[in-house]
Amino acid sequence: MALNFKLIILRDTTVTECPNCKTPGALDRRKSTGWPDRIIQKITFRKNYHCNSCKWDGKVFNFRLTKKYKQVLLSYLIITGSFLILLIILYLYLKSIKPR
Ligand SMILES: [Zn+2]
Repeated sequence: MALNFKLIILRDTTVTECPNCKTPGALDRRKSTGWPDRIIQKITFRKNYHCNSCKWDGKVFNFRLTKKYKQVLLSYLIITGSFLILLIILYLYLKSIKPR
């Protein structure tokens, strides 16, 4: 099994659904209206979009949670689990050494 640690991935706007009408791939990038807007977009990781299907205008989050988040969480669980086992083994080993 391959471990997957990418929990958050960059949104692919060519397949992203419109938040209003749920049409996939209907969103177009809108140019920012000025530098304050550009800064807000950078800080909030959102970008202006326009829907060609329902004429919706708004901001869409750049990143999204991966659909394989269960696999990712399992990967983290395996890593954490094996690290804990290692610690326990180390602890038992150190305990078995008699202090002089
Ligand atoms: Zn739409």
